[in-house]
Amino acid sequence: MTVAASEHAPRELGAVRHDWTREEVRALFALPFPELIFRAQQVHRAHFDPTEVQMSTLISIKTGGCPEDCAYCPQSAHYDTGVKAEKLMHVDAVIAEARAAKRAGASRFCMGAAWREPKDRDLDTVCEMVAGVKGIGLETCATLGMLTPRQARRLKSAGLDYYNHNLDASPEYYGAIITTRTYQERLDTLGSVRDAGIHVCCGGIVGMGESAEDRIGMIATLATLPAHPESVPINMLVKVEGTPLARGEAIDPFDFVRTIAAARITMPKSVVRLSAGREDMSEETQALCFIAGANSIFYGPKLLTTANPARDRDRHLLDKLGLVPMAR
Ligand code: SF4
Repeated sequence: MTVAASEHAPRELGAVRHDWTREEVRALFALPFPELIFRAQQVHRAHFDPTEVQMSTLISIKTGGCPEDCAYCPQSAHYDTGVKAEKLMHVDAVIAEARAAKRAGASRFCMGAAWREPKDRDLDTVCEMVAGVKGIGLETCATLGMLTPRQARRLKSAGLDYYNHNLDASPEYYGAIITTRTYQERLDTLGSVRDAGIHVCCGGIVGMGESAEDRIGMIATLATLPAHPESVPINMLVKVEGTPLARGEAIDPFDFVRTIAAARITMPKSVVRLSAGREDMSEETQALCFIAGANSIFYGPKLLTTANPARDRDRHLLDKLGLVPMAR
């Protein structure tokens, strides 16, 4: 198939829209690869400095023993993955980790807890953590499961900048991955977070055995939220022994890059994070993701319970590509 750039170039490339149809998103995914990347680059450059990458560090403040059954997750109590359930970390230990992350160059510190939803007494402690991390000059992010509107407001008052709650998959494929909470419950939590005035971090995971149509559905759902998430993490499944998804087929790296490009084009002002899965990703694939509009990474050797590239390896890659940390 031959496609002239002008043939498919939409009139308002880079404009923020919330009325993306599945057909339009499907057409993006179907573009010849160079055309898709070119278009993603144009959108990226309209809103961001393409040499800048936002750097977030993610730690697990409460590991394992989660009652949810997310089929990809080593922290679910439903699967035997060797991850031990631990108690909520002490505030001082979390602040010490945040200081180390800041020294190493991170600008945002994300705290993840393996809960269905936080209990109010645990939220007291998390609010102390948020205030402490904010106090040392980092942006704060938390991912604690479902939130009520009141809990979201409490986190906002403590100084929370971002809340992560992923949609994970398309509405159609979601039930094959999680049965213990509904898609609507996820959307409700996102609404509570947004209403509290906290920035939303929301994306999904690819490589979970979903079809190309499911990836289209996931991007279309994200792009038609009432407001685009400020941060859109696109994760490549990290297969963990003991989880139901440990044995699935890997996704073609080009399909992963296409998903990043579609996120960039449909959510032009959002920071798109090349998220989990980088440990096993080639430098070339990561470079293609940056070219396709990814402009954020998790920085630090661990992502909750799975491996992430060491900091010096990431610095070396960014240096080779001429990329620099995004100024706050
Ligand atoms: S992804 Fe989160 S909610 Fe799901 S099992 Fe893991 S820790 Fe629990």
